[in-house]
Amino acid sequence: MSRFLAGILILGLVLAGAIGARAATGELNIYSARHYDTDLALYDRFTEETGIAINLIEGESDELIARIEREGVQSPADLLITVDAGRLWRAEDKGLFQPVTSEILETRIPGHLRHPDGLWFGLSKRARIIIYNKAQGRPEKLETYADLADPSNKGTVCMRSSSNIYNLSLLAAIIEHQGTEEAENWARGTVANFARPPQGNDTGNIQAVAAGECRISLVNTYYVGRLMGSDKPEDRAVADAVGLVFPDQDGRGTHVNIGGAGVLKHAPNRANAVRFIEFLTGDWAQRAFSEQNHEYAAVPGIEIDTPLNAFGPFKEDALNASALGRNQPEAVRIFDRAGWK
Ligand code: FE
Repeated sequence: MSRFLAGILILGLVLAGAIGARAATGELNIYSARHYDTDLALYDRFTEETGIAINLIEGESDELIARIEREGVQSPADLLITVDAGRLWRAEDKGLFQPVTSEILETRIPGHLRHPDGLWFGLSKRARIIIYNKAQGRPEKLETYADLADPSNKGTVCMRSSSNIYNLSLLAAIIEHQGTEEAENWARGTVANFARPPQGNDTGNIQAVAAGECRISLVNTYYVGRLMGSDKPEDRAVADAVGLVFPDQDGRGTHVNIGGAGVLKHAPNRANAVRFIEFLTGDWAQRAFSEQNHEYAAVPGIEIDTPLNAFGPFKEDALNASALGRNQPEAVRIFDRAGWK
């Protein structure tokens, strides 16, 4: 073949490629309650691979949900990304999602981390663990969530407010496993052990335990991971001062929650939205999505680089994350009755 003909052939292939790419080009409008730098790298890589441009709107979860509701059938939003199954449920409860069937998603994401009807999919995991002040020593009875309510831990427990979604989702899990009455007994017993009225966020409570203001608290793993991985020696000292307990290892396993995404009911670019969630389950994307926030990958077998790995693998509660949403209203009522402010 002459060099000239070969040149034509290559040109033809390049053109065919360009047309193919244009045919696949489209848009994807993402409403996201996450705001990490690595998310931007994820969006860029997706656009590079698919030719699909991403338009991003960031905001607080509840604001985004209200906005999607307000926009109704006119909403340009294809996909909502947020954290905590309780928040995904808020969108689900308002009928904002549509079901998705995808072999990739159903193969990659374990069943308990996605909605049974495909309304949303978990993409990262966090565990809600017990921490204690190392200097004061590990309390005698501190293996399970139930132990937080044990009378031996009286006056030692610091908690954040019950209006926070993390505690609501944990209580929702307890309701699902043990029923309303047991769940209420647990909430009452824990309130009776409070060292002070509920206050602060997870990081504030880690600092309070490290400082010995309280002996025990309950926090999400990534907050400890952030302190452990911090550039600041004072942050690492805080992390160093607390011991970690992954509760219920001999029972149902530690409570985990998810970061996740769902395709919106009126998505103008539905196929692109599904394709993006599928992209997020790839090995590289799983790491990029989880790692920056010291979360665990939702897809099994993908190891995240985080100092939390020092605490080894743990048994996680296999309860379907949809129960965490479904039981939110009951959880609110129980915290209310138990006087957990
Ligand atoms: Fe958080």
